[in-house]
Amino acid sequence: MILKQFNELQSYLESPRNIVIVGHRNPDGDAMGSTLGLYHYFKKKGHQPTVVVPNEYPDFLHWLPGSQTTYRFDWQNTQSQRAIKNSDIIFLLDFNALHRVGNDMQNTLEGYENDFALIDHHQQPDDFTYMFSDVEMCSTCQMVYHFIEKMGDVDLIDAAIATCLYTGIMTDTGSFRFRSTTSLTHKVIANLIDKGAENDRIHSNVYDSSSYGRLQLLGQALQNLKVLPEYKTAYITITEAEKAANNFKKGDTEGVVNYALSVAGIVMAAIFIEDEGQNLIKISFRSKGSFSVNQFSRENFSGGGHDNAAGGKSLLSMAETVEKFISLLPENKEKLVTSYEE
Ligand code: 5GP
Ligand code: MN
Repeated sequence: MILKQFNELQSYLESPRNIVIVGHRNPDGDAMGSTLGLYHYFKKKGHQPTVVVPNEYPDFLHWLPGSQTTYRFDWQNTQSQRAIKNSDIIFLLDFNALHRVGNDMQNTLEGYENDFALIDHHQQPDDFTYMFSDVEMCSTCQMVYHFIEKMGDVDLIDAAIATCLYTGIMTDTGSFRFRSTTSLTHKVIANLIDKGAENDRIHSNVYDSSSYGRLQLLGQALQNLKVLPEYKTAYITITEAEKAANNFKKGDTEGVVNYALSVAGIVMAAIFIEDEGQNLIKISFRSKGSFSVNQFSRENFSGGGHDNAAGGKSLLSMAETVEKFISLLPENKEKLVTSYEE
């Protein structure tokens, strides 16, 4: 764990401040839950917080309390720039390096003259003035809970904060099933329920909101699933045409990679999603056991993340990307087949 200048930060936050809170590009449940959870907490403390979201986030997160108060950097650029310019400090949540917010916003943040405070659980974070970083943590939302705890303010956690934090812990742990889910995670979750997080509603809001198109696209993705038992690997491809044919909306492919990992005996799963807008293939990797998809993605697909969940990208065509992926398997065979004993 890295804890840098916490006492200084705590004293700094004793006076009301203009605070901007930023999550990563293509925000997920943990990015939205942690930024909004911290937003509600700072508001309660008498600060003036503003959440600036780099770009669009999935429909299944729009119900989160406070989401209507956020600025989107790509859409509401003037307001976002103004909020950043007028802020005393910027909190960076659920990412480890400024490039994770996307080019335009990265440029703005690099020109920022005040201090950054990082709260994050990704590996190898860049250095910022204030840091609370722990790669053992299942989610940034759990870290925000511990941050509030360190500030001596657990009593201030209300239903809005609890709901936001519950959501990110739930989504980043695959509903409390990944290895990163500890007894402490469950204790935090229990406290959040006591503070007013309605767990049944949160699950339903996030997971029972599929459109017909999303389910059809899932059907297509499952048809495309390929299994390579020799390497305990499975992968899924989704093309632009398949997205278009199924009325694709942002967030529709979220979690689909887990179906590849759910095949018996599989230790590495990948999903390759064509993105014509960005002119690249977006990749998600998942693994079971000791095989680090963070390292695999860093070395081969300009990405990173965590040992068992990482992302990356490829500028090759879909066919070439898959070919490259398959060509990397023999050299990783030993690590793959010994990664996880059933
Ligand atoms: P996902 O596959 O859900 O997009 O991402 C899995 C994990 O890897 C998340 O924690 C995410 O923040 C991280 N991640 C996704 N894409 C990238 C990337 O391009 N670079 C890095 N460093 N991390 C990524
Ligand atoms: Mn996260």
